[in-house]
Amino acid sequence: MSTKTPITVAHGDGIGPEIMNATLHILDAAGAALEIETIEIGEKVYLRGNTAGIEPSSWESLLRTKVFLKAPITTPQGGGYKSLNVTTRKTLGLYANVRPCVSYHPFVDTKHPGMDVVIVRENEEDLYAGIEYQLTPEVTSCIKLISRPGSEKIVRYAFEYARRHNRKKVTCFMKDNIMKMTDGMFHKAFDEIAVQYPDIQKEVWIVDIGAAKMADTPEAFDVIVMPNLYGDILSDVAAQIAGSVGLAGSANIGEYCAMFEAIHGSAPRRAGQNLANPSGLLLGAVLMLVHINQPETAERVHNAWLRTIEDGVHTYDVFTEGVSTQKVGTKEFACAVAARMGQKPCRLKPVSYARAAAGGLPAPAKVAASSAQMELNGIDLFVYWPSRNPNELAAAMGKFATDGLELQMIDNRGVKVWPAGRPETFCTDNFRCRFMARGTTDMRQLIGVIERVAAAGIEIASTQTLRHFNGQAGFSLAQGQ
Ligand code: NAD
Repeated sequence: MSTKTPITVAHGDGIGPEIMNATLHILDAAGAALEIETIEIGEKVYLRGNTAGIEPSSWESLLRTKVFLKAPITTPQGGGYKSLNVTTRKTLGLYANVRPCVSYHPFVDTKHPGMDVVIVRENEEDLYAGIEYQLTPEVTSCIKLISRPGSEKIVRYAFEYARRHNRKKVTCFMKDNIMKMTDGMFHKAFDEIAVQYPDIQKEVWIVDIGAAKMADTPEAFDVIVMPNLYGDILSDVAAQIAGSVGLAGSANIGEYCAMFEAIHGSAPRRAGQNLANPSGLLLGAVLMLVHINQPETAERVHNAWLRTIEDGVHTYDVFTEGVSTQKVGTKEFACAVAARMGQKPCRLKPVSYARAAAGGLPAPAKVAASSAQMELNGIDLFVYWPSRNPNELAAAMGKFATDGLELQMIDNRGVKVWPAGRPETFCTDNFRCRFMARGTTDMRQLIGVIERVAAAGIEIASTQTLRHFNGQAGFSLAQGQ
C-alpha cells in the first residue's frame, strides 16, 4: 500500500507553471511523499466557455484528495467570469484563511525586522457572502452576514493554531462600536472561546486603530483573527510590510478539504521569463506538508529555503545590491533550495513543526443547535420615494398603520429623517419606514401593511422583519432615533 498522500495540483496561468515546477522540484528533493493528480483550472478553462474556470472532473479530483496545491490563475477581464478562488473556498467550505507574515531581516528589506504575525481570516461570511442588491436607482446594498457558528469556528481555529504553533497571544480585530450586532457577535464568540484557552493571552482591538498599530508596530502581535473583509485587506498589508507579497504563502482550511497557495496573482507580465519568485507558493506547500502530517519534510524544505535566503541567493523582486550575493531565476532558485536540503539557517531562526503537526486540522467543535425565544415586533419597508421628501412620505405611509402597528420612524441611509428630521440631512431616493407593534405582532398583520403600501402604488425595494431574541432587540436603531 502506498504511503504517499494524494494531492491535487493546478499549475495555473502566467507565472503559475514556472513557480509550480520550481515548488514541485524542491518538494521532490525533500522527499515529500506525494501522489500528484494534476488538474487544469483558470484562463484556458474560462475561455473554453466554462464561466467557473474549473471542469467537473477537477472537482472530482479535489473531493477525492481533499488537498489542493494551487498556483495563481488569471481571471479574464469582463463580466460573467466567476472568481475561482471564491468558488473553491465556498464550495469546499474552506472557512479559515491562514497567512504567516514573517520578515527576513537583514536579508530581505523591511522596516519591521522583528515581524512574525499570523493572520487568521474568516473566509466564508461577512460582506463576501456576495449578497448584493440594487434597491432603487440611486442605492445599492451588500449584506454583511456574520453567524455564530461561523465566528465560533474561526476563533476556535485561531486558538488551536496558536496552541499547536507555540504562539503566545491571539488578538481579535473587529468594529463592534459601530456594527454592534455583526461584529458584536464575532467579539462575543471571541470572548467566550478565549476563556477555554487559559494558556494563551488574548486581546481585542477595534480594527481601525488595530490596523494602524499593526502597520506601525507589528512586533506587538502574534496571531490575529478577524472577519473576512478586514482580513482580506490586512493580510496583504501584513505580507507587504514584512518584506514582499511575493514571499507569503497561505492555507485555506475547511473541515473536509484544504487549499494551499501563494498570496500573489499570476503576474502575467513576468510570465515565461524564468524571473518569478517561487517562495510564496513554496511556503504555501510547506503549510500543506504540515497539514498532511509530513512535518519533518515541511521543516526540511522551510529550513533549506531560509538558508537560501540567508545565503543571499535572491530572485529579482527581493534582490538588493550589497545584501544579496546572487541574482537568480526561478529554476536556479529552486536548484539552490534543493542543494541546501538538510541545512538550517545560521542567522535566521530555524523552524520546527514537530508540535504543529497533529494530523492537520483541529477537530471542529460541534456547534450546538441554536435556540432562542423569538418575538415578532414589526417590519422595516425600504421604499423608493423619488421626490426625496420625508414628510410627504410620512403622510403617505402613515395611512397604512393599523390598530396594532404604528409608523414609528423613517430614515435615509440609517439617519432618522422623520419625525423631527433635520433639513440638512441629505436624502437619497431610498427610505426605510419602520412599522412597529406595541408588543408582539404576527406575519399576517405585517403582510397586510405590505399589501396596502403596494396597492397604493408605492414601490417596495425590500423588507426586513423586526424581532426580539431572548428579550434583546434584534435590530439597530437609526442614528438620531
Ligand atoms: P499579481 O500579484 O499577479 O502581480 C503584481 C505584481 O507583483 C507583478 O507585476 C510582479 O511585479 C509582482 N509579483 C507578483 N508575484 C510575483 C512573484 N512570484 N515573483 C516576482 N514578482 C511577483 O497581481 P495582479 O497583476 O493584480 O494580478 C494578475 C492576475 O492574477 C489577475 O488576473 C488577477 O485576477 C490574478 N490573481 C490571482 C490570484 C490567485 O490565483 N490566487 C490572486 C491575486 C490575483
